[in-house]
Amino acid sequence: MTTPVLQAWRVSKSFGAERAVDQVSLSVQAGTATCILGPSGAGKSTFIRCLNFLERPEDGYVFIDGDPLGFDRRGDVFHEISSRRLARQRQKVGMVFQQFNLFEHMSAIDNVIEAPCGVRGVRRADAIEKGMELLRKVGLAHKAHSLPRELSGGQQQRVAIARALAMEPRLLLCDEPTSALDPEMVHEVLNVLGELVAEGMTMIAVTHEVGFAREVAHRFVFMERGAVIEEGPSSNLSVDGVREDRTRSFLEKVL
Ligand code: ADP
Repeated sequence: MTTPVLQAWRVSKSFGAERAVDQVSLSVQAGTATCILGPSGAGKSTFIRCLNFLERPEDGYVFIDGDPLGFDRRGDVFHEISSRRLARQRQKVGMVFQQFNLFEHMSAIDNVIEAPCGVRGVRRADAIEKGMELLRKVGLAHKAHSLPRELSGGQQQRVAIARALAMEPRLLLCDEPTSALDPEMVHEVLNVLGELVAEGMTMIAVTHEVGFAREVAHRFVFMERGAVIEEGPSSNLSVDGVREDRTRSFLEKVL
């Protein structure tokens, strides 16, 4: 077995007395897409945010390409690394949010080139060339100079995907990427994500779109009350295909 692109090992996170994520482990191989499903409040969002340290796990480790995120491993001992080195490590992980989180005062192309220019020091002309390629890929080259408020929700989310890709991440995390969209715009975003998966992008997505999970993703994880109840190949994602009663009763409600 090759080293997973991402491995979470017993990741836990509490808010006050509540354990939002309780010892969750996950392994994701290169070129695969994993969907995290589960009822509201299950800890899905907290868990995916732990995977790039938007939430710092209080326990457990996240390994990216075998390297522990936020730590230096010397033998069996883990030493915390500087925030600067952590920032560099985190560049390997792209993220797409429910609410897009674009810079409102910047055009689509400026949103896309902001991190490559600002963080990586890529020359502006080169970043624009690559950024335009990415906007073309998500079908929005013609909107390069529009501000977010001049774009539909679906278009804003596609710009956000292009922006995440601009840093050439090893892994793309998507936290309910279509939940804030009007129904008619959901498919345009799912189509873009589906194309990325078909091209071999490694992806983890929290989503309520069971159809997407079954047809596009390779694996699913079902979470409830901070824990993984079941995981398996996405082809099992049907009322008759899943193993656990709790997964089945969730699917019965949403399918
Ligand atoms: P899901 O994404 O499955 O809906 P979340 O990860 O958003 O679940 O939330 C899991 C639990 O953690 C919920 O009970 C939620 O209220 C709590 N929680 C999430 N984020 C915070 C926060 N920043 N502060 C306090 N509690 C939080």
